[in-house]
Amino acid sequence: MSFEIHKVGVIGAGQMGNGIAQVCAQAGIDVLLFDISAERIQAGLATINGNLSRQVGRQAINEAQRKSALEHIVAASDYAAFSDCDLVIEAASENEAVKKKIFNGLGAHLKPQALMASNTSSISITRLASVTDRPERFIGIHFMNPVPKMQLVELIRGIATDDATFDVAKQFIGRLGKVVTMSEDFPAFIVNRILLPMINEAIYTLYEGVGSVDAIDTAMRLGANHPMGPLQLADFIGLDTCLSVMQVLHEGLADSKYRPCPLLVKYVEAGWLGRKTQRGFYDYRGETPVPTR
Ligand code: NAD
Repeated sequence: MSFEIHKVGVIGAGQMGNGIAQVCAQAGIDVLLFDISAERIQAGLATINGNLSRQVGRQAINEAQRKSALEHIVAASDYAAFSDCDLVIEAASENEAVKKKIFNGLGAHLKPQALMASNTSSISITRLASVTDRPERFIGIHFMNPVPKMQLVELIRGIATDDATFDVAKQFIGRLGKVVTMSEDFPAFIVNRILLPMINEAIYTLYEGVGSVDAIDTAMRLGANHPMGPLQLADFIGLDTCLSVMQVLHEGLADSKYRPCPLLVKYVEAGWLGRKTQRGFYDYRGETPVPTR
């Protein structure tokens, strides 16, 4: 099996799903965008339009390119719409039960040769593939946030993923102008295996009163030369996603060094999920972000 990807389905129109749809559309690939409601799909499309308009504003693309990219993206009202997709990428919330339900229901609507992929940050590709009708054509395609800006994509093979699937996925990522690294299928793969324990440790540092939000982020920006502080980054990723990744690491590797910080749990329980809900370690409702502790 060797084929080109002409049409991609994206499930989940949140910050990752809409970014994935945007980069595919800008590479001239047709996209179907799906979420749990028409409103969420429309919100995703509005974000894409905003991002493209900003690109026009700084002359990275012209108006015709903005229009053309938008024309490549169509809202899908159900999985039946994916029947002529060559690849469907799932970018729904980081919850194994949600993802398994999606993958379990999807296969019946796809053509037999179509590939399925998950953008999961941490969940086993082998386990997700096991609930599908095509584990050999299933792969982890892990984009980074924000998708249009970040160069890297991690490709993760499940135990059953065949070589042809890997090759097609790799070629597809190349067409998007991004760089591939390959990770084995272990909890949180490479980037998040390293990044999330650091973020969790920053939250422990806050929880134990070693420093304030501002002190911790300033320390890591100016002291370790990170482009943004770890708490700012946690808000950017989404605190629900951060907590899910830590839980997958904790359970998957059965090592107490990965236990999620209780303060992270508390923020998630409060619904303070970071930028996407306007409040996390910072409050984003005013002109400039204000630390919440
Ligand atoms: P998000 O909360 O912004 O978006 C998730 C979207 O999934 C929401 O719009 C939600 O309505 C939708 N959704 C939930 N259940 C669904 C279902 N059954 N069918 C269709 N849509 C459904 O989250 P996000 O940050 O875009 O994360 C999405 C995925 O990408 C997660 O697996 C996450 O781990 C992964 N990821 C996130 C980042 C990051 O920095 N946020 C980076 C890389 C990968």
